[in-house]
Amino acid sequence: MFLMDLLKRCHTCNHEHASIDSQYAYCPDCGELIENEWFITRCACCGIKQKAVIKNGVIMPEANYCRNCGGDEYIIEKLEKINFIDINYAVLVKTVVQEEPPMDDVTQCWEEKSLNIPKLLQLFK
Ligand SMILES: [Zn+2]
Ligand SMILES: [Zn+2]
Repeated sequence: MFLMDLLKRCHTCNHEHASIDSQYAYCPDCGELIENEWFITRCACCGIKQKAVIKNGVIMPEANYCRNCGGDEYIIEKLEKINFIDINYAVLVKTVVQEEPPMDDVTQCWEEKSLNIPKLLQLFK
């Protein structure tokens, strides 16, 4: 029962106490390694920055329409680094970093990729 409770708690942890000062931080509540990712949204039409919000787990602009051109299409841009200008526009997504896969899996992944390339080339010939 204890394990079940623990898993449940991990699953529902929002990691709100994890530090956001660095890109990676351990959550003090559940012990998961958290990656802080900042996203902004831009108008797909004119490229102006729009304040991003998360609604139902989806990143989207706060405004329905672009204040500059009235467009409703947008793109999501991941920021490599947060700065004091972008922080007003950005949303923070805390992603749990999974353990790195074993070396064997990584090799397999690369093999599959390299095998796919010749097949694709053959199709075009
Ligand atoms: Zn947590
Ligand atoms: Zn626009």
